[in-house]
Amino acid sequence: MRGWRLGRIAGIDVEIHFTWVIIFVLVLVSLSTAALPHVPASLPSVVRWIGGLVATVLFFASLLVHELSHSLMARREGIPVRRITLFIFGGVAQIASEPRSPGAELRIAVVGPLTSAVLGAVFIKLASLVPTTHGGLALLHSNLFYLGAFNLVIAAFNSLPAFPLDGGRILRSLLWLWWKDLRRATGVAAGLGKVLGYGLAGVGLWEMVARGEVAAGLWRVALGWLLAAVAEQEYQRASAMARLGGLRVADFMSSPPITVPADMDLEQFAHAYEFMLRHGAYPVVSEGRVKGMLEREVLRATPRHLWPVTTVAAVMQPLEAPEMVIEADAPLDEVLSRLTDTGRSRLLVVNERGELVGIISHSDVLRALRSFRRLP
Ligand SMILES: [Zn+2]
Repeated sequence: MRGWRLGRIAGIDVEIHFTWVIIFVLVLVSLSTAALPHVPASLPSVVRWIGGLVATVLFFASLLVHELSHSLMARREGIPVRRITLFIFGGVAQIASEPRSPGAELRIAVVGPLTSAVLGAVFIKLASLVPTTHGGLALLHSNLFYLGAFNLVIAAFNSLPAFPLDGGRILRSLLWLWWKDLRRATGVAAGLGKVLGYGLAGVGLWEMVARGEVAAGLWRVALGWLLAAVAEQEYQRASAMARLGGLRVADFMSSPPITVPADMDLEQFAHAYEFMLRHGAYPVVSEGRVKGMLEREVLRATPRHLWPVTTVAAVMQPLEAPEMVIEADAPLDEVLSRLTDTGRSRLLVVNERGELVGIISHSDVLRALRSFRRLP
């Protein structure tokens, strides 16, 4: 999920997905037009809207702080964080890989709800310091109180023991620690995640049909559906990882790889590799060294008349990202997590001397999984 880049906090990019605009407007309108207790109806609407805008910004800043706490803890645990994205269901910190130990997962998960609870307490304390006797101050009091309550709700909701919520991750890490079995632990936490997801979707449906609250109901249906889908996806992933345990990249890669010279043009490539184009991508070499990867798709993306004047080097993915390369003796599950995390479809395989020895794709890993399934 990519969005518009808002800025950078503590070295982490913060992005806004287009769906976030919907929730921003909804929150702004409901905060600015709500009939708040203590606030006289005579208060000018421009004051209400300014108050509403400030509260809305603080509302999303609170979500950002929650995600930032996960991100900073993940980084402390040695896991890089790609970015934080705000979207219609709140925020998500895109952490580059799964924690390698139950302790790390527990620390990364638990810090989020704790941060929200502290924020909630601070806002409610601040609200209690503001008198409610004057119209403008009453508005400030109400907004601070609302922000406090919102943060407490975020802390409570995220603490539910249902994966992928923070509470579900906490539960998973504890079961993982207890059973020493990530797959079984994910099974329980994700199972509860699906129960919560479908339950929430059911409540949303009831709201829409029985109470006519279409917007709120639809939002809950979509959120519940998303939670259930992520829970299922994570369970499948954990199962796949468990089955792949003990297998090596070298056993399932395509080797030796069919390479393409960097100075070849696309016209030559299309002819010379006509019978070998069954591969989706080719390592590009120059002077005996790997320079990048050429996706077969570039032939389609490049206009036919430009083929003779376009070199392979010009359209390849240059070998700048270290995540494009994996060692032959790395565990196979590492390939799956690397592909999922980076959105790539293949990785170049090198030996301990850094020489290219093969290429491994998503389908090679699936082949490994299928061969396992055939066993009794
Ligand atoms: Zn969280």
